[in-house]
Amino acid sequence: MKRRRMIYEGKAKILYEGPEPGTLVQYFKDDTTAFDATKRATIEGKGVLNNRISEYLMSQLTAIGVPTHFVRRLNMREQLVKEVEIIPLEVVVRNIAAGSLAKRLGIEEGTVLPRSIIEYYYKKDELHDPWVSEEHITAFGWANPQDLDDIVNLTIRINDFLSGLFLGANIKLVDFKVEFGRLWENDYMRIVLADEISPDSCRLWDVSTNEKLDKDRFRRDLGGVVEAYSEVARRLGIMPESVQSEQKGPVLVK
Ligand code: UDP
Repeated sequence: MKRRRMIYEGKAKILYEGPEPGTLVQYFKDDTTAFDATKRATIEGKGVLNNRISEYLMSQLTAIGVPTHFVRRLNMREQLVKEVEIIPLEVVVRNIAAGSLAKRLGIEEGTVLPRSIIEYYYKKDELHDPWVSEEHITAFGWANPQDLDDIVNLTIRINDFLSGLFLGANIKLVDFKVEFGRLWENDYMRIVLADEISPDSCRLWDVSTNEKLDKDRFRRDLGGVVEAYSEVARRLGIMPESVQSEQKGPVLVK
C-alpha cells in the first residue's frame, strides 16, 4: 500500500495528505495529554470514540448551516476534511465556571455564569497558549475584525446548538474549545469550524449528578476515561460499531 504523506502530527491527531487536492485525512490517536503536555497517556479506544463523536457533532452543525471542514468519516479512526488555513486561536466558550476560569478568577467550579463567555487563547505551544484579547488578535493580524465577527457569530450558534443537543442527552455543556480555519474557494474566503469537537475539548457533566464525562477524568486521575466517552456516545445515540470490534479476539463465524 502506498504510504501517505504526513502533514502534521499533533498531541491527539495526525493529519495526512488527502486523496484529492484541498483535502486532508484526520487520524484520531489514542494519545492524550494535559497540563501543557506534561502529563501523557494512551487511552485505548479514545481515538475511535472521538472520531465518531466529532463526526456526529460536526454533521449536526452542518445540518443547521454552520460551515465546517468535515467531509465524511472514512473509517474507525479517520475522517476526510477540507484543507483550511488554521487561525492560530483556541476559542473557548464557557457556560459554567470550571478549569482555568474558576482558578484564575476565584469562581467556584459549577457556578452558572451570568452569560456565556467567549475567550481567546493564542495557539503557540512555546508560550503555553496565552490568553489574548480581540485587541491582540487584530493588532497582530491573526484575524481581522471581519474574521472575528464571523468567529463570534459562529461560536454563539455552536454554543446554543450544542448546549441544547447535549441537554437532550442529559449532559450539561460546561465549556468547550473550538478552532476555525479559512477555506478558500477560488477567490472567495469563508471562515469554517475546523479541528474536532469531542470530550477531549469539552467539559461535559451529567445533568443530575454533575459526574464528569470528559477529559477531566484524565486530568484529575478519576479513571474510567473510555467508559465516560462511551457514555457520551451512547447518550447521543451514536455508540460506534464499537471500540470492541477493533480489539483482537475470537471472531464468531456465521
Ligand atoms: N481546552 C482544549 N484544549 C486546550 C485548552 C482547553 O480543548 O488546549 C478545552 C478544555 O477541555 C475545556 C475548555 O477548553 O473544555 C476550557 O479549558 P480551560 O481554559 O478551563 O483550561 P484547562 O482547565 O483545560 O487547562
